[in-house]
Amino acid sequence: MAADKPARPSLRVVPPAEPDPAEQVRQRVRKMARPDGIVQCNRCGSRTLLTLVNGVFIENGRKTGGTVIEKDICADCYKRGIITSMLPALKPI
Ligand SMILES: [Zn+2]
Repeated sequence: MAADKPARPSLRVVPPAEPDPAEQVRQRVRKMARPDGIVQCNRCGSRTLLTLVNGVFIENGRKTGGTVIEKDICADCYKRGIITSMLPALKPI
């Protein structure tokens, strides 16, 4: 019988938690005005680009070859294990 079943817990909306101090800094940095043309991460507000290249040789004092693994990603997000592109994706016309 249906009356014997235990009552399901009802779903409730939980208000968002207060951001921790590190997240407060990220929110403040993201809200700051950006200089024209500067590249800035939309997730954390960092302005540090990172490009990962595998297998580079040094010939005559210059770096040659190598395979680009990741290009123009946020360095600070990468430290946390998140790959975030800092350049907008260009769409073909
Ligand atoms: Zn970032």
